[in-house]
Amino acid sequence: MKGYKEIVVVGAGPSGLALGAELQRLGMAARIFDRQEEGANTSRAVVVHARTLEVLEPMGATAELIRNGVVVPVFRMRDRNKILATVGFKDLDTPYPFTLMIPQDRTEAILLHRLQSLGAKVERPYEVVATRDLGESVEAQLKHDGELSTLRAQWLVGCDGAHSLVREQAAIPFEGGAYEENFVLGDVEMDWPIEREEVSLFFSEKGLVVVAPLPGTKFHFRIVATVDRVAETPQAADFQHILEDRGPKKGWAIHRLLWGSRFHLQHRVAKTLRHGRMLLVGDAAHVHSPAGGQGMNTGIQDAVSLAGALESTIRTGQDDALKDWQEQRHEVASSVVSFTDRVTRMATLSSPALKSLRNAVIGIIGHVPLAQHALAERLAEIDHREFVNH
Ligand SMILES: Cc1cc2nc3c(=O)[nH]c(=O)nc-3n(C[C@H](O)[C@H](O)[C@H](O)COP(=O)(O)OP(=O)(O)OC[C@H]3O[C@@H](n4cnc5c(N)ncnc54)[C@H](O)[C@@H]3O)c2cc1C
Repeated sequence: MKGYKEIVVVGAGPSGLALGAELQRLGMAARIFDRQEEGANTSRAVVVHARTLEVLEPMGATAELIRNGVVVPVFRMRDRNKILATVGFKDLDTPYPFTLMIPQDRTEAILLHRLQSLGAKVERPYEVVATRDLGESVEAQLKHDGELSTLRAQWLVGCDGAHSLVREQAAIPFEGGAYEENFVLGDVEMDWPIEREEVSLFFSEKGLVVVAPLPGTKFHFRIVATVDRVAETPQAADFQHILEDRGPKKGWAIHRLLWGSRFHLQHRVAKTLRHGRMLLVGDAAHVHSPAGGQGMNTGIQDAVSLAGALESTIRTGQDDALKDWQEQRHEVASSVVSFTDRVTRMATLSSPALKSLRNAVIGIIGHVPLAQHALAERLAEIDHREFVNH
């Protein structure tokens, strides 16, 4: 097959799987390596936005994702029982005017299935331990079963997550900083007084808490919150206290914590997404707050657009498409990181005066249809379609 062995993909998280499947669809099979024995099986990112559903459609993943997820047409910002603003997706100009809630392990399983159905595979457990740009080609050193081997390719793509070895080997700075707060997330079974067609963002002086429906029964929800301190493995009681302090005043009861995790977040963007023959996609290129649920989405969109740019570069022998891709996706990544940073800082204000001002501003935005629509387009990531050569 054309392009075989010309592209090496390091990492088979959602970004690497989407890249591998789209390359395969375009007739550009790649070698895809992951150091883990098998894919991760935790729920992590649960939000899939409209633009991601659009770009995954040609490879045939979208219908399967929708079958497995919960369709949510509304994000609502609240202060305890008071509604501050509603962001509706129903009027967006997309075949998918909603947000889909689906755990990341299910998204990854669907992408892997697409990749395999198209005829590709992930090679595991292979760890890339070093890379070298040789000018006319790129070299990767791989470790498998304790043995080292070397592989040459035309292009090497780091889909290897926030602690990317590819980024480090290419000496690309990861610019930004860290949030003081920790984030906790929990998948719970609970009674909840708000309809399951809504993702609720509660703004409070104690911090932000987001509650979203998960597939399963009517009792399944995801809770994400900012916290100053929490044990490494949060317990049901931690989420109980968070909702008591910040959620609706009554009508809810947590019955069971199914999965909980704590993480410390950074907001960083790689200085460039390309250095010679090495490219960066997904968390390797940008990490940010989960406000808006855009992390995994931006990574998948980077990946699908990169497949088109690589196909054009290998077919024509000219790298103009890759230059455009790097410029455009870098701009998108910077914009997503600064947007989610502003939302996170605004949501976690503690000064009562600033908090009142914030609630007033959100109230105004919620009543200006144009502003509300622009926010919905931005969250759905359909405001930068022109950046994806698709
Ligand atoms: C606990 C937790 C909760 C999260 N919650 C949310 C959320 O609510 N919303 C949201 O938007 N995002 C969330 N995220 C972030 C989201 O999971 C990431 O944005 C997403 O996984 C990024 O996908 P990726 O494919 O770019 O990288 P990753 O998913 O990190 O995948 C990287 C892959 O590369 C492999 N790899 C790494 N180094 C090498 C190497 N040297 N050789 C071979 N293989 C290698 C790894 O094994 C891994 O499979 C969360 C993350 C965590 C950890």
